[in-house]
Amino acid sequence: MRAIRNTNSEAPEKARARRRAAALRRRIEDHDHRYYVLDAPVISDAKYDELKRELLAIEERYPDLVTPDSPTQRVGGAPRAGFVTIRHETPMLSIQSIWTEDEFRRFYETRMKELGRKSCAIVGEPKYDGASVELIYDNGVLVSASTRGDGASGEDITANVRTIREVPWRLRGRVPPHLVLRGEVYMNKKEFDAFNRRQEDLGAKTFANPRNAAAGSLRQLDPKITAKRPLHIFFWEITPATRGRPASHWQCLELMKALGLKTNPYVRRFESADEAVEWFEQMKRRRERLPYEIDGCVFKIDALADHPRLGTRAASPRWSIAWKFPPLQKSTRVRSIEAYVGRTGALTPVATLDPVHIGGVEVAHVTLHNQDEIDRKDVRIGDAVLIERAGDVIPHVVQVVKERRSGRERRYRLPRQCPVCSSRVVRLTDEVVARCPNTSCPARLREAVIHFASTEAMDIRGLGEKLADQLVAKGVVKNIADIYDLKAQDLRRLTRMGDKSAANIIASIKRSRQNAKLDRLIFGLGIPHVGRALAVDLASRFGSIGRLAAADAQALRRAGFGTVVSSAIAQWFADASNQRLLKRLQQAGLRPKLERKGSRLQDRTLAFTGTLEHMSREQAKEAVLRQGGRVAGSVSRNTDYLVVGAGPGGAKTAAARKYGTKTISEKEFLRIVA
Ligand SMILES: [Zn+2]
Repeated sequence: MRAIRNTNSEAPEKARARRRAAALRRRIEDHDHRYYVLDAPVISDAKYDELKRELLAIEERYPDLVTPDSPTQRVGGAPRAGFVTIRHETPMLSIQSIWTEDEFRRFYETRMKELGRKSCAIVGEPKYDGASVELIYDNGVLVSASTRGDGASGEDITANVRTIREVPWRLRGRVPPHLVLRGEVYMNKKEFDAFNRRQEDLGAKTFANPRNAAAGSLRQLDPKITAKRPLHIFFWEITPATRGRPASHWQCLELMKALGLKTNPYVRRFESADEAVEWFEQMKRRRERLPYEIDGCVFKIDALADHPRLGTRAASPRWSIAWKFPPLQKSTRVRSIEAYVGRTGALTPVATLDPVHIGGVEVAHVTLHNQDEIDRKDVRIGDAVLIERAGDVIPHVVQVVKERRSGRERRYRLPRQCPVCSSRVVRLTDEVVARCPNTSCPARLREAVIHFASTEAMDIRGLGEKLADQLVAKGVVKNIADIYDLKAQDLRRLTRMGDKSAANIIASIKRSRQNAKLDRLIFGLGIPHVGRALAVDLASRFGSIGRLAAADAQALRRAGFGTVVSSAIAQWFADASNQRLLKRLQQAGLRPKLERKGSRLQDRTLAFTGTLEHMSREQAKEAVLRQGGRVAGSVSRNTDYLVVGAGPGGAKTAAARKYGTKTISEKEFLRIVA
């Protein structure tokens, strides 16, 4: 990229802005992936919006720095494989967020001025913390439902949405012939707690908050599972794709209500910014008492004829704004701090709190991450602490309320010995994390078993946290290979589970042995730094566990892997207990097959530009690797193909021209990897 742009003649300030914008784009893309694809965000919405606003500010200052693939030009992540994609007739845009009354008043005044009015009506509605969906009724019959997806198209979840009791299959009365609606699917706070407890009892996946639970429930491939989830819906919009839409947003809401579609009872219409501000303050006070979670209020200019006049900017409609509540904070007391041992042996200090309800979710534990963090915040046992929960991220300690110290608080230090196996804890000089080095430590083993059995790895259904706990605690499973020696009577005896459940688990263990894939096994071994995509890469590059185990760090680096990753992998395979484990897995009859559909891209290097319609970048990368190819981040003379998606970047296209790289469309790419 740098090679073709003459950055020398650029002002240093602009060069800095260019670098900063590139860094911001990478970070935002990473967070988008975590949020939309993995359902596992690591930063708060506020922090995310901050990154996006900074990028927007740079791009506004230097419009020529805007790239077609900048996250400001898009509205989200790609739909997942496994569902059919539905294109939205009008894009589902994301609404711009603000946090202060000043910002809200500025929004109202600038829009009025643009419209040339002295006042204009505006409609306020709670902003639900759920999953947005689009529903289509043709001649009053529900024909389609889809997720928001990347805004342009989403996943077909019609069968799942039909299981929600509040969604009518047929509408009565004077229904527009083609009615396209949007709404929010959500879970009530109490029902969410009960649901999570049930999941925990079953050893199934639990969710961090009601929003993730709602989104996860809608994305079930089996609608019968969705049907068992306590899902609700509020309808909040009739889209322009509807024929014969009423003239105002307020009338749309009235129409939906008349048709028996559930709308929110707190929605109000205002004639001035003052009224809207007053209502917002009321909603803020009401927030905790509502049965469902809201994280702010959405305001929309009422007259629909004004919407196209105001238009959109940076993928957000300018006729709407989301005024967010400040993050919820509560104070409570630290009862105790204990070290928890994870899969890689990392010791994580976790504080047990006097339980508090924050935004309807009970918080009883909070991670303190590591010793440095404890020292920095000076958290002591017995301290009063301020806990924050920002809806989508795990709760954290904001600060200690030092004025409330009595002098009886006790400092905490991570133990020098593993709390589970008593091995001496090691802390490498360049790491903040302390680890238990014992690979057969029961605590590590429990996590290793859960990871090995997970859907992404060996996919052993029914072997979740609860069963893993029992198997490890009772010493039946001393390493992951022991899973393959389990008999139905062991399970019945140990856990008092029924004949049928035990037989099911034994069957899925057997299946995981028969269908073992090399990349899944490599991932399942839990080698530090080895995630899904890297495991696929290692599998296709080395072809067998034996060859991978024989490669030293140097060989791995030569094969193109990074220094840190290479030494982590080599170290793992050099460990005697890991070697014994591999031998045992082999004796257990595990013959992992290399899942490569072909070698159509053998030794070819591909680069991607623009947005792919049918798969995410991560999926595209996996597809290339499965055909024996490589993926490069930029186009060089060594690149064989440039796959061009929607809104391609100028730099890669120009580089492809310069080097004579063959460009192919997404369709051609799909034919190659299919
Ligand atoms: Zn240990």
